[in-house]
Amino acid sequence: MKKSKFTYKLLSITSLIAFVALFSCTKDGLGFSEDVIVFEYAPDSDPNPNPDPVAIVEDEDTGSDLSCTAEGANATRTSSDLPNAVNVGTIDDRSCYANYKEVEIDGLTWGIYNITAGSNNQDAANTLQPRIERSLPIADSNVGSSVKFTGDFRILEVADAGSFGQDGTYIAQAKGQHTGGGGSPDPAICLYRAHPIYGTGSNADKQVAFDIYAERILERGGSGSGREVVLLKRVNKNEITSFVLEVGFKVDPSDSSKKIHYCNAIIGGEAFNWNIPSPERGTQSKIRYGAYRVRGGRAQIRWANTSHDRV
Ligand code: CA
Repeated sequence: MKKSKFTYKLLSITSLIAFVALFSCTKDGLGFSEDVIVFEYAPDSDPNPNPDPVAIVEDEDTGSDLSCTAEGANATRTSSDLPNAVNVGTIDDRSCYANYKEVEIDGLTWGIYNITAGSNNQDAANTLQPRIERSLPIADSNVGSSVKFTGDFRILEVADAGSFGQDGTYIAQAKGQHTGGGGSPDPAICLYRAHPIYGTGSNADKQVAFDIYAERILERGGSGSGREVVLLKRVNKNEITSFVLEVGFKVDPSDSSKKIHYCNAIIGGEAFNWNIPSPERGTQSKIRYGAYRVRGGRAQIRWANTSHDRV
């Protein structure tokens, strides 16, 4: 591609010289106007002037209207699921933008989770973030108890709210209650948050990839500064990425009288293991996935090949 552009530039310069030579002895303005046309096709100095345009995906929602739809205005959090949905778990739809849908691509059926900013039609206004998620069965805190979720995701779009702290959409989360109080009655423990990466040149306003962060509690019930946000890895738009999340309790190998509450993810084959603070206070392990939180714009997450085990 670069070679052909360079060749074209050489041809353009040669043409220009030819035109100048041809018309330099005349008063014919037409010749000079054709010189200008030749110049218009010369490559500019942008190092990446024409990146391949990021593809619109087959099941991507590209409409500019992010408001509620009649189709997406479910009556209750659980009333909008498809019969025999291909994705496991109990639907929790708190967005009037869309309901859960499915699409088959190359023989694989994907669950569609599309939400937009301000679209929570189930909770009091300006309280909780919109979401369409699925909840999964809960494991207790005995040593050896665990839950494990497996699936493949594609990310097409995530929230852009203008700053890092407000950007991003959760694709999955580990949750679990604890003793001793503090925080939400149904606290999150570790959330997997996708942030937008924009392209260059003609793709400068398009989300072309996503950085996935782990948002982890620093203390039981932690929120805001009670959590840390750690970069895990980058995935491309629409890249089919495997995801495994296992949360459970095991014996602490350094002291068999203690236990570890672990939250281990494998994303695209890369392991991200983490031990939850104050394991002795944990009373549950549970997992949700889908699309959650959109403080600006729209989020579009897809899930397929989902399964869940509880031990
Ligand atoms: Ca809905």
